[in-house]
Amino acid sequence: MAPHQHTAADQIISDLQAAVGPERWRVWFEGSTDIRIESDHVMIGVANLFLSDYLKSHFAGHVTSAVRARLGPDVPITWRIQPDLFQKRRAQNLADEAEAMEQLEGSPTTPARVAPEPALTPPRFTLDNFVVGPCNQMAFAAARSAVATPGKDFHPLFIHGGCGLGKTHLLYGILNALKAKAGLRVACLSAEQFTNRYLAGMRTGRLDAFRYHYRNLDVLAIDDVHFLGGKPATQEEFLHTFNEFDGRGRLIILASDAHPHEIQAVQHQLISRWVSGLVVHLSPPDVETRRRILHAKARQMRHPMPDDVVALVADRIQGSVRDLEGALTRIIAYAALLKQPVTSSLARQALEEFIVARPPRAGLREIEAQVAEFFGVTVSDVHSSRKSRLVSLARQATMVLARELTDLSFAEIARLMGGKNHTTVIAACRKWHRLLKQGTDVTWTDKSDRRSLPAQALLAHLKERIRH
Ligand code: ADP
Ligand code: MG
Repeated sequence: MAPHQHTAADQIISDLQAAVGPERWRVWFEGSTDIRIESDHVMIGVANLFLSDYLKSHFAGHVTSAVRARLGPDVPITWRIQPDLFQKRRAQNLADEAEAMEQLEGSPTTPARVAPEPALTPPRFTLDNFVVGPCNQMAFAAARSAVATPGKDFHPLFIHGGCGLGKTHLLYGILNALKAKAGLRVACLSAEQFTNRYLAGMRTGRLDAFRYHYRNLDVLAIDDVHFLGGKPATQEEFLHTFNEFDGRGRLIILASDAHPHEIQAVQHQLISRWVSGLVVHLSPPDVETRRRILHAKARQMRHPMPDDVVALVADRIQGSVRDLEGALTRIIAYAALLKQPVTSSLARQALEEFIVARPPRAGLREIEAQVAEFFGVTVSDVHSSRKSRLVSLARQATMVLARELTDLSFAEIARLMGGKNHTTVIAACRKWHRLLKQGTDVTWTDKSDRRSLPAQALLAHLKERIRH
């Protein structure tokens, strides 16, 4: 947004951000507060009661000064609890990464920007502080190999997985390691930035500069490439960029929330280029890896945690690594607020605050609807006893996900899915357990397109759909 378009609320926010500093901003305000100017007062929305107490006791002075500086001394400030704010945090995190990308890239063709310090400082993403477990070891090995001999063994490297599982971390980790090698030209940007720059280049007649810049790199990393879905002109440009990178020991690294075959509305030349290299998947960490991540993050936050606290958090928070970080931050803050050491009972209390804001567990109806839509069948197909490949697949996936995402028993799932026998659900779960363990690909036909995905990737993708 150009400066003259900034509203008073934006100005208050940027003053406040400057006053509290980027680190504290990230932990306390970003995504958990909503600051707006109402008719006769300034409203500060806060995600929960605990946060509101904490913010008032630590930052009320900063907030008051920022409001007064822009609106004068008489405007009242109202605080309000807004539990929906946590859900918005996810989206915000994505926007920060885009910003951080731009900083890392340091492109000579983009003018220096007087941006506030990025919320996430890229150097904190390294391969050394990436915790490796069964959920990410393939991806990590690929990252190491990309650093050792970029472009030699595979091109491109395509990393996919759900939100907050470490895609951007790996991307930066690779680039930070490569930057340390002499003479390599690297750049990293989000697919959205690539699109915007391409369009800007076209508008201003400077497409040559754009192309020259990106096509003469040794390693180009593009984050969140699923963004290119439905953008044919940019896809075309990207395909040319790709071709330029071929056969010269150069490397393109891509990250996406879905497998190439799963990204909607991307031309098939591009998809086939993406799958022609190495495609690796990140899954949510198992409990053991969650523990190791928590220990590592706590040490990084200079707040080592006892084993029983780590075990408790690893047990309770089963989502992404980003969720684990959020839980740790809350516990540390909670301990600071109460001026007490971190014990498992304090952690339990702090997490209860956190759980209030946690999205509710998915319901069976939601799962059915999303899975049916994904496979292009109807929910009553799923409930029926039709045996066509597509319908069976949708039915089984729904059963497996229902077991995983809801608290329903086999018998309840069977009953709610059109009065089936519980052994059907058990059989589906067994079968999928085997597919997952063996890493088997699942294939199906979608509007006469043959599709194929590892079982794990397929489930992960469906879960993402259900969650959003
Ligand atoms: P994504 O891009 O997949 O949404 P990010 O790379 O932004 O996820 O990761 C979210 C947060 O989790 C980051 O702070 C990142 O450092 C951390 N993280 C993810 N995976 C790991 C890991 N294996 N080890 C350490 N930190 C991780
Ligand atoms: Mg990311």
